[in-house]
Amino acid sequence: MTARFRREWAIRDHPFAELIDQRLTGAACAGRAPLFDTDPVPGETDAAREARYAPALKICRRCPVQDQCATAAAELGGQALGVWAGIVHAPPSRGRPKKASES
Ligand code: SF4
Repeated sequence: MTARFRREWAIRDHPFAELIDQRLTGAACAGRAPLFDTDPVPGETDAAREARYAPALKICRRCPVQDQCATAAAELGGQALGVWAGIVHAPPSRGRPKKASES
């Protein structure tokens, strides 16, 4: 189960949130998963992604379960991607492949 899948079930479908993680019941991002996801939108630039995250970060500021969300994100570790508890969790950078001369 990916973090995105968990988020969608935990938050988007509010009635099911209690079945997955009761701590996130009442999340302000319910129904707004696309704003919070890290999955690239086709053609989306880095600037556009940051613009997409801006309203998500504002929503987090008024979320009644922000502390619980931060705890859930910490428990998920690197699987928590996108916006969680007012923080953007970016996927690890793949970086550029090393040249043979750099090894
Ligand atoms: S703090 Fe943000 S990401 Fe976490 S549940 Fe609330 S609105 Fe959603």
